[in-house]
This record gives sequence, structure tokens and C-alpha cells, in this order.
Amino acid sequence: MRSRSFYPYRPPNMRAAAALCLLLCLVALAVRGCRIACARQQAAPVGEDVTVSVYMHETGEVRTMGLNAYLIGVVGGEMPAAFPLEALKAQAVAARTYTVRRLPAYGGSPCGRGGADICTDSTCCQSYKSDEALAARWGKNAGAYADKLREAVYGTGGEVAVYQGAPIEALYHSAAGGRTEDAQHVFSAAVPYLVGVDSPGEQDAAHYTDMQTFTAKAFVKAVNGEWSKAKLKTSKLKEQVAVLSRYESGQVESVRLGGITATGKQLRKALGLFSANFTIRVEGDEVTVTTKGYGHGVGMSQYGARAMALEGSDYIEILQHYYTGINVAPMAPRP
Ligand SMILES: [Zn+2]
Repeated sequence: MRSRSFYPYRPPNMRAAAALCLLLCLVALAVRGCRIACARQQAAPVGEDVTVSVYMHETGEVRTMGLNAYLIGVVGGEMPAAFPLEALKAQAVAARTYTVRRLPAYGGSPCGRGGADICTDSTCCQSYKSDEALAARWGKNAGAYADKLREAVYGTGGEVAVYQGAPIEALYHSAAGGRTEDAQHVFSAAVPYLVGVDSPGEQDAAHYTDMQTFTAKAFVKAVNGEWSKAKLKTSKLKEQVAVLSRYESGQVESVRLGGITATGKQLRKALGLFSANFTIRVEGDEVTVTTKGYGHGVGMSQYGARAMALEGSDYIEILQHYYTGINVAPMAPRP
């Protein structure tokens, strides 16, 4: 009883204790939530702090933009947005890898046109379309397609294709014509990850097979203009012109043109053909050149990527199919 007078017993107020505990928990959760939210706000997407100077080959101006904004315009310019997302992601990684190799800050060699890192000419670097140009092209699908491209670029945040730890020369083209080509047959240097692989399912590509018809006179003029020693004659074309050999891809290795032997790539350039995989038929006063595939045929086939995505492959499987022996890894932080 005595002790009670000094230390009066009070039953513990369980409700108050529980309330206090709950309050403390809520405060702790709120603080933690704030920290996470703040961290999220601060962590910008990978590559967001990297800028690219882009030479607009149609207007001659140079624009500087963020890497991710640029890549969205490249994926939209290079690949139909209706393609499956995994194909668009493969395109985003290939485009990012190609771009990193052009950035001096990353040890790359810039395109140099207009003094810029890269240009919008697809025959030199990569195609690029502004948001406005893409929206005009897409019409009613603009909102959904813009979201899809953002997902392709941000969903592969900062990833590049690497071979032995270094970003690769990520070449790509529209359609290989059934099998891609070794880099050494097109660009004269052998590259271990740019070797021929099968590329099925490309038949929906524009110009997958195409036929270009020339008058005998126009054909002779184009060839003799390029090679003066060819000495083609309209009356002798049937005997003077013949494909001599092909690579495994089907691309022409060598073609006899009167007094000279040219490569398929050279004749493709001289005649403006869709690919170097061609046959030539001389019939009366006409020369018909039939091509298979569209582009140089090296690296990733965009229509082949689409076919793989439709069959269930993800973007890494697509990239690893077309670029032999590569891995996908985060790009280095901005130097
Ligand atoms: Zn260029």
C-alpha cells in the first residue's frame, strides 16, 4: 500500500499507446515515401544528360538535342511505329549504339557534316523525324505511336549493344533478302559481329523484290559513264553482261560488264538499285534488273526484327541474332 502512495498504480492506457505507435509509424512511412519520391524525381532517365548535335541534311541547320529525344526521332524515322514493340526496342538500342559511336565525348568519330556529331541522311548516318513530322505522318494514331516510341527508347534506358565490352558499329537495313551479308563483302573490313545470318519473314518489306527496267541505251550510258573501259554496246549487251559469282547471301560478288568486272555493290550504286542481290535480263531493247532485299544487307534487318518479334522474340534476342556474339549493357555514364 505504501508503495502505491509513492508510485500510484495507473492501468496502462492501451488506446493511447496504440495511437502513438500508429502515429509514429505513419510519420516514418511518410518520410520514407518522400525520400523515395524525391530520389525518383532526381534520377533522370539514363542518357537524358547527354546531348547530340544533329545536322539536318534537308535544311542544312544543326540542332542540338538530348540523346533520348533524338533517339525517339530516329526510331520513328527508321522504323514504322506499327511494328511490334520488341522490334522498336531493338531499333532503339541499335540507334543508341550507333549514336554513341559518333559522339566524341565517348571516344566516337563524328559524322562531321555541318560540324555535327551525326546527320539525318539515312544513306550516311540515321534517318530522323521531328515530333511534328511524325505526328503528321501518323494522323489519328499519333498519340498511341508517340507513347510506343517513348517506351521503346525509355524502356531500353541507356542500353547499347557491346562486343567484348565496347559499343558495336550497329549497322542495320530494311530487308536482307533472306540472309544478311558479311561486312567485309560490303565495307571491305571483316567485323566479327557483322557476319551473315538467316533473316526469314521479311517478305512484307517495301521493295523486298523489285524490278527496274532500263532501255538498252540508258543502261549502256550508265555503265559506260561509270566505267569507260566497259565499252558496252546496245547491240551486244546479251553477250557483254553476266553475273559471275555470288556470296552466300545472294548478293552479287562480281558481274562482267563488257571490258571490266565490277562488284555487285558498285553496280548497285551506279544504277541506283534497291540491293546488290540482283539478276539481269537483256531482252530486245530492254534490260530488266530484278532485286531482292532493300539496303546493304549488313547487321540487323528491320523487317527480320519485326518477323522475330511477331514470333515472340524479345529485343535482346533480336539483337543477339543479327549481331553475332554481342551483349546488351548500359552505356557508360556521361564522361
Ligand atoms: Zn552522317
